[in-house]
Amino acid sequence: MKDLTRADALRPRTRAVHSGTRRSQYGEVSEALYLTQGFVYDTAEDAEARFQECGPDEFIYARYGNPTVAMFEDRIAALEGAEAAFATASGMAAVNGALTSLLRAGDHVVSSRALFGSCLYILEDVLTRYGVEVTFVDGTDPAQWEAAIRPDTRAVFFESMSNPTLEIIDVAAVSKLAHAVGAIVIADNVFATPVLQRTLDLGADVVVYSATKHIDGQGRCLGGVILGTEQFIRKTVEPYLKHTGGAMSPFNAWVMLKALETMDLRVRAQADGALTIARALEGHPALARVIYPGLASHPQNNLAMAQMEAGGTVLSFELKGGKAAAFKALNALSVVTISNNLGDAKSIVTHPATTTHQRLSEDQRDALGIGPGLLRLSVGLEDPADLVDDILSALDAV
Ligand SMILES: *Cc1c(COP(=O)(O)O)cnc(C)c1O
Repeated sequence: MKDLTRADALRPRTRAVHSGTRRSQYGEVSEALYLTQGFVYDTAEDAEARFQECGPDEFIYARYGNPTVAMFEDRIAALEGAEAAFATASGMAAVNGALTSLLRAGDHVVSSRALFGSCLYILEDVLTRYGVEVTFVDGTDPAQWEAAIRPDTRAVFFESMSNPTLEIIDVAAVSKLAHAVGAIVIADNVFATPVLQRTLDLGADVVVYSATKHIDGQGRCLGGVILGTEQFIRKTVEPYLKHTGGAMSPFNAWVMLKALETMDLRVRAQADGALTIARALEGHPALARVIYPGLASHPQNNLAMAQMEAGGTVLSFELKGGKAAAFKALNALSVVTISNNLGDAKSIVTHPATTTHQRLSEDQRDALGIGPGLLRLSVGLEDPADLVDDILSALDAV
């Protein structure tokens, strides 16, 4: 039998169904949920031995590791083509864990400026409080990366596709600049998804996900994961996270593990839907612009298509009539729901200026291209024709 835990033994869709499985003595088909905090030792000597050296299939306490969590970690690592993974309680625990476990006072980090609000908080407020120097750049401009990366730069951070304006980072080009000075490249790959982009192959050293998004894909659980080399995960990330409490719960790991089995199908269907909707909306008289990396009109369409298999599951569009028009359209939708998550089976629309990016000043929002008429649409698994009908009739109401 093939070793299903080997990342290169089978194609990604097959790995997403089988890799990492730890079958119990009962031979269950569907992976077991080991909802346990602790583990029993046969003897005092066994307990002593396990605390001295814990093997890959031995567990001590669920904050350190758990069989269901280990199945999720091994499966997503196999899918991503990473040597190892550490699952976390949320996407932010993954971002924070990757950065904080690596960095120390005096280190220098270069980061793209277009970041999810909580990522920005970690880089701008938390790391700097502990003496880490952070330089922000326009992530789409290679010259700014080149100017900012210094011989003493320790890490580079970016969201490979930014929220909500869907700017694309050239992962290979930025990684090359970072590696020339020995810096570690950490990519938040939520928007590009584990399905559509091979981020480690492009050059990143560490990939982080909010599993809350496409990995769960049905809006149920919070979770996150850090992927990288065996050395980075075991020697840098794990000691930090197992003692600071960012572990994923076994229940959430079980939900995420089973969700990985359908993620490929879901994400490809959602990306097809996003392209259909983007095409239907482009040129609409009520819209100032439609932003979707899979459209030829996206300023980085060539890079997006070279880096990704499709343009992603999210699109943004800007109403000419500003906030009033955007709110009118939001309130006229009937299939698409108003919320702020993404990657869900249900299509979700967000008004970033008054919700996810409300904390920013108007100048900051302008600099990021987040105008009062901008809406972000996370495309779900409904029939795209129903979504197009729903959005077009909402735009008629404006
Ligand atoms: C949602 C999100 C996060 C944070 O994930 P949580 O699971 O909500 O903690 C981080 N980065 C990006 C790009 C996200 O979209």
